Amino acid sequence: MEKSRKTRVRFAPSPTGPLHMGGVRTALFNYLFAKQAGGDFILRIEDTDQNRYVPGAEEYIKKALDWVGMETVEDPWKGGPYGPYRQSERKEMYRQYADQLIESGHAYYAFDTSEELEEMRERLTRAKVPSPQYNAAVRMTMKNSLTLSQDEVNARLEAGDPYTIRVKVPRNEEVRFHDLIRGWVQVNTNSMDDKVIFKSDGMPTYHLANIVDDHLMKITHVIRGEEWLPSAPLHILLYKFFGWDDTKPEFAHLPLILRPDGNGKLSKRDGDRLGFPVFPLEWIDSTTGEKASGYREKGYFPEAFVNMLAFLGWNPGGEKELYSMDELIQSFSLGRVGKSGSKFDAAKTNWYNQQYLRATSDQELGSSLRPILQDEGLTIQDDKLPAYVELMKERATFVSDMLEGRYLLEKPMEYDEKVIQKKWTADSPAMIQKLISMFEKMEFDSQSLEQAFHDFLQSNGLGMGAVLPLLRVLVTGQGTGPGMFDIMCFLGKAESLDRLSVGLQKLQNG
Ligand code: GLU
Repeated sequence: MEKSRKTRVRFAPSPTGPLHMGGVRTALFNYLFAKQAGGDFILRIEDTDQNRYVPGAEEYIKKALDWVGMETVEDPWKGGPYGPYRQSERKEMYRQYADQLIESGHAYYAFDTSEELEEMRERLTRAKVPSPQYNAAVRMTMKNSLTLSQDEVNARLEAGDPYTIRVKVPRNEEVRFHDLIRGWVQVNTNSMDDKVIFKSDGMPTYHLANIVDDHLMKITHVIRGEEWLPSAPLHILLYKFFGWDDTKPEFAHLPLILRPDGNGKLSKRDGDRLGFPVFPLEWIDSTTGEKASGYREKGYFPEAFVNMLAFLGWNPGGEKELYSMDELIQSFSLGRVGKSGSKFDAAKTNWYNQQYLRATSDQELGSSLRPILQDEGLTIQDDKLPAYVELMKERATFVSDMLEGRYLLEKPMEYDEKVIQKKWTADSPAMIQKLISMFEKMEFDSQSLEQAFHDFLQSNGLGMGAVLPLLRVLVTGQGTGPGMFDIMCFLGKAESLDRLSVGLQKLQNG
């Protein structure tokens, strides 16, 4: 390949449903690779299989890329110099390439019906052929332009008989190519199929459209999922047959994302079954109405999602785990992408979210939290929001987790039963009363409260564990939470004392 070409990569999903997180990772690695090289990241919609077309899937793909911040240079909506970027709109372009291969003897018409193909497979299975294929050993027994006379072929084509165009894979040749992740890959053509590249409905199949488009769109690197590795030798042959070897792209096949137990590929169907989303955005199936959850709606930060995805299969080495998109662009390399599958880890994904939450300003978290509080019918003064966030953020993985601190905004209705059972004794009312009297005389700041509380414990010969849980449960209703004196400062003197007295009364009356 000439070295002077501008790096151009494409993400080429088929709109057959919502984009799975594995697809987003493929897009991400393409994006990082392109950006680092100062190249182009292109989105091409591969919709040649109209039977599998799912309405809304294209828009979903676009929205998902937008959400994580991967901007495309060329795509079906923006267009660009090599458009259109939707294969169905390029339909007319492909026929000439199929014809070219027929003319050069690298492809042929096949007229076999599905029954005939089935018969062939059964025959080969009976003859103990391990994986029956339409290939050099079989094609001369089938109904195609290699076995039928030219007249019959023409007559069939004129009569509009259904046909396919198949690649004529040579017998017993080694196909070798270099994969940027896997190194040299070598396959003997005897194990390959004469794949269909064109159908009589006028549509190319994936294999033809993919090669033609990558060529015409001047793609320099094909970075895609491991599931396409078995197709790569065919693609290499096609480049050779077209005479495009000099400009053929380099290949990199990414390792799979595995289920958390390592047991197989994490698939679209795993959906919410395993307790976490597999899609970036929520998806509602338009026919069944079934809803699959998305990372966005679950409250993940796109930055955390991207950071987590980058580390599924790639590792920069070293201790650092938190990488912004810009840092990923700088550090990414295909050489550090592993060959083996990486297990998805939901707890680690949450850890990433927690780290990003902690790194977000209280002001910003407050703005995201406000509508969540409102939805719960909770009101908070604007100037109290940052303090609320500061109290709750250390314990939160998601912004919505900070709802746990609702007791900062409303008086407790109930008191944690476990704490009461364990800590409330006949001496408690007098002790609480003393505490109230002490707090009444004080200025409310966290340090003074803490100091006074310690002095109180000491002069009364009490341990922390005998008093603090009760103080907490009376003021908040809870058994756990952030620093108690910080909570009391947030509530203010009047509210804290009021809660203490009300709580004391309620507990005394049983
Ligand atoms: N359309 C294929 C897919 O849906 C793209 C494979 C490739 O990138 O070559 O994954």
